[in-house]
Amino acid sequence: MHNEMTDFPKRFYQRLLLDYDHKLNVEGINGKRLAERLAKLAGIGLTPNNGSSRMGFSEEERKAKKLVKEWMKEAGLEVREDGAGNVFGRLEGKENDSPVVMSGSHLDTVPNGGHFDGTLGVLLALEVVAAWKEKGYQPTKPYEVVIFTDEEGSRFNGGLSGSGAMVGEVIREEQLKLIDVFGNSFEQVLEEAGLTVDGYLSAKRNLKEIAAFVEVHIEQGKQLEKENLPVGVVTGIAGPCWIEVSFLGIAGHAGNTPMNDRSDALTAASQFILQVETLPSKVSPSAVATVGKVHVHPNGVNVIPGKVTLCVDIRDIHKETRDLLVDKITESAKQVASDRGISVEITENFRITPVPISIQMQGKVMKAVENHVRSSHLSPSGAGHDAMIVGRHLPIAMVFVRSKGGISHNPMEWTSLNDCVIAARVLKDLVEDLTM
Ligand SMILES: [Zn+2]
Repeated sequence: MHNEMTDFPKRFYQRLLLDYDHKLNVEGINGKRLAERLAKLAGIGLTPNNGSSRMGFSEEERKAKKLVKEWMKEAGLEVREDGAGNVFGRLEGKENDSPVVMSGSHLDTVPNGGHFDGTLGVLLALEVVAAWKEKGYQPTKPYEVVIFTDEEGSRFNGGLSGSGAMVGEVIREEQLKLIDVFGNSFEQVLEEAGLTVDGYLSAKRNLKEIAAFVEVHIEQGKQLEKENLPVGVVTGIAGPCWIEVSFLGIAGHAGNTPMNDRSDALTAASQFILQVETLPSKVSPSAVATVGKVHVHPNGVNVIPGKVTLCVDIRDIHKETRDLLVDKITESAKQVASDRGISVEITENFRITPVPISIQMQGKVMKAVENHVRSSHLSPSGAGHDAMIVGRHLPIAMVFVRSKGGISHNPMEWTSLNDCVIAARVLKDLVEDLTM
């Protein structure tokens, strides 16, 4: 009988190899092996739209981890799982007392997500070891391939559960308050996954034992595609700040209120939104600000809007410039309201500290990139990653890999095998440099 679900991994594999340049296989790196593994993982949590649904702490996430653990053992790694379900595959170095260099990402996905987000970072970290094994290479410092649990956060509307536990950024009371999308408590979810709250909290590692963390991730944007480059250097991970702005005018009849006697909250909001667009470039080349959500009250065709509430998402990789931008946007809202003789209320919903990547680490990534690609493209990551939470405590590096059309969190997510293998080569050089 024809079975769409079991056919998909095979077709996915064939599509990956279709335009693969086998000359990219060097120094033990093997595109075919990588394609096979990507395809096998694509079969776990496969959705009817050929997407991936592997929610954090789910059976699908566990199945995916189990499979990668087998590959870790095959590559000669010593495999260990901590109380948060994070998996570490360790290769001893020539000097085992040295702190470890880590690389990896996550295997959970958003509902009906793609087959590269997270997965690629884990498999490339593993490909480095597989390549070393073939060549009989042993690094000086120890190296660990890591799979972090529940990065995406679609379970508890949070995320970074595994990496947060490893660096000790979790608080028992806060965790116990969590309820997942099915109405289950954090404790119940852990129990179903064979874990406990005590175990989860014990996942904190002695951070002195870790020298650095490297994450390779699909770009989830179009910059590398535009530059026609397979990989790029990440300069930092932007921290978002969300502010809610309400302009309070006076609702009135659209026919009976003369134009010079109005307190229109929507025209004020419009003027403000246009100003928001001009402000980021005044503070920093990497800053961005977006108004993506607007509520108009009472929202009637023949009523002058009396109240408009909107949210501004403000990001940059440097705290100082991101905070300066928040101030400028806040001032702008107050100025527009005062010029128009209406009032404004501003509430800050949250402010997450951005994580810049050190110039020294960026330099190491650039060197590795330029061994394989004509030039380095530097860009910040607008989205959060495990590297963000780890980067608050430890040196980190991040490499982006070109995403077709910038599409992600979607079954259409695609990165060519050529680009994946170039990223593997870059990661191998970078890890060899860091474990030297
Ligand atoms: Zn991801």
